[in-house]
Amino acid sequence: MKLELIVPVKRKQNWRGNYQLAPIGLMYVAASTPPDVEITITDEHIETINFDKPVDIVGITSMTAEINRAYEIADEYRKRGVKVVMGGIHPSTLPHEAIQHSDAVVIGEAEGVWQNVIKDFRNGGLKKFYSSKIRPSLDNMAFPRRDLVKGKKYLTKNIIQTTRGCPFSCTFCTVTNFFGNTYRYRPVKDVISEVESLDGNFIVFIDDNILANPKRAKELFTALIPYKKRWVSQSSINLAKDKEALALAEKSGCMGMFIGFESISQESLKAIKKSTNQVSSMRDSIKRIHDHGILIEGAFIFGLEEDNRDSLLRTLDFAVEMRFSAVNFFVLTPFPGTQIRAELEKEGRIIEKDWSRYNNFTVVFKPKNMTPKELQDMAIFAKQQFYSYPSIIKRHFPPKKHALASLGYNLLRRRTTTKRT
Ligand code: SF4
Repeated sequence: MKLELIVPVKRKQNWRGNYQLAPIGLMYVAASTPPDVEITITDEHIETINFDKPVDIVGITSMTAEINRAYEIADEYRKRGVKVVMGGIHPSTLPHEAIQHSDAVVIGEAEGVWQNVIKDFRNGGLKKFYSSKIRPSLDNMAFPRRDLVKGKKYLTKNIIQTTRGCPFSCTFCTVTNFFGNTYRYRPVKDVISEVESLDGNFIVFIDDNILANPKRAKELFTALIPYKKRWVSQSSINLAKDKEALALAEKSGCMGMFIGFESISQESLKAIKKSTNQVSSMRDSIKRIHDHGILIEGAFIFGLEEDNRDSLLRTLDFAVEMRFSAVNFFVLTPFPGTQIRAELEKEGRIIEKDWSRYNNFTVVFKPKNMTPKELQDMAIFAKQQFYSYPSIIKRHFPPKKHALASLGYNLLRRRTTTKRT
């Protein structure tokens, strides 16, 4: 039996070059597939789908922005008589939409139900929907099938997921909806075995919030120290509040953290329930993280209820002044299933229904204090200013630890400021 797993892409983003991460979600799906199934992974970020290749069943994962392309791919396979199973964040949130283009939809995490999908397919009894009543345990998880992306040009295949979910419930975030309002983590010994299995020195811990349980995070960081790896991950700003965690992160090789600041207005943070962030302590927290040689890639949301042109300009100034290594000025995107979408829908403020526009860069709702165009222009302007040469120089001199890596990343990101992604 031949299984083709596919990552769809709306439009090839050549600027990404070799900076794409390997598709860990599908590598996990492959790991929970029975061993007698022949599996290939096709990732449209870096390769083209061969619809003529003989396959028995196709699995497609998709986020919202790529879902139209995912449906196109699914329709094409189904025209050829191939069964299609869809999964991932968007199909899990809107399974009745996804089933219009597929034979089965996996709702939520694949582990625990994927083997049933394969069994039912083999018996000719594929069901429409599969979902697990309980969240899968992360103990003894099979390692993602890195062998299936061997030789493909990714920034790294050394992506490890050590936790799933997040205990917080920010109103704009899709994480809690998909993984549940739980925070589950793999035993540290399992993560370390996976670290030991990797080639190379650099690791991306793809967790949504590696520090949501500080005790467990510290155990992990401590266990990593002897391996002398370099790693990056995502965390809340709470990292700065825990001196021991910060010191252990540095000692274990942490080069950088992606941190969601979202806003420098406490009112806005309260409205989106970003309970971890306090504006009054942000500067100190950032300094403490930088003092430990850890770079910060910050994320801000443009278009919150308190936002106007001036507040967004202040946000841009703040990001430059704080010498962030990189920044994302995401336009508020009311993804399906989020609390913020329900609020905006109730107020009749959703102006765009084309899912391909739900890409974190396009304004798809009516902002409160600006026109959609003003907000769109501000997001583009802020991005261009942040990655302008004067800003890059200001943020990198005098150089901090890992400045060269940061500089290279900035030059790459600069290339996107003239392109819509
Ligand atoms: S803290 Fe981060 S991952 Fe957790 S719900 Fe908020 S935005 Fe999502």
